[in-house]
Amino acid sequence: MHAVYPGTFDPVTLGHIDIIRRGLRMFSPLTVGVAANPGKNPLFSLQTRVQLIEDSCREAGITGDFRVLPFENLLIDFVADCEATVVLRGLRAVSDFEYEFQMASMNSRLRPAIETVFMMACENQHFVSSRFVREIALLGGEVDSFVSPCVLLALAQR
Ligand code: ADP
Repeated sequence: MHAVYPGTFDPVTLGHIDIIRRGLRMFSPLTVGVAANPGKNPLFSLQTRVQLIEDSCREAGITGDFRVLPFENLLIDFVADCEATVVLRGLRAVSDFEYEFQMASMNSRLRPAIETVFMMACENQHFVSSRFVREIALLGGEVDSFVSPCVLLALAQR
């Protein structure tokens, strides 16, 4: 079954990588969809975010049928264009639930054939977010246990 794992990935963290690794045990192929999301004013360009996911997967030794694609349109249209039937999302704390529940419900109303599947964040990455990684790194803190080496380098260059 083909699933799309969408996100902003600004930048990709080891929490995201864990979802990709586990997602590949259930779904094939898995398309990681990188949302342009200009409204969020991302730190990294769309092209860099795609590249960092590919490099992080390589560094993590992830194999399997996956690809990383950027998208600028509505998520469910992107999912339909990919001919996928599942949207894969990660769930961390209770605070993620409200937003994810709304998004899954809206998407299901717009395209009932597409199902959203959630995976719980793993125990040692459940507190990791791209936002905190950006903030800590930009203020000179250590983020090496939250991101892969290529992301560490990209953050250091900013
Ligand atoms: P978005 O802007 O769409 O929320 P993110 O890049 O922040 O995109 O996250 C993409 C997906 O990955 C979301 O489903 C989010 O809940 C999930 N996610 C983010 N961080 C983690 C983590 N540490 N562990 C597991 N899932 C995560």
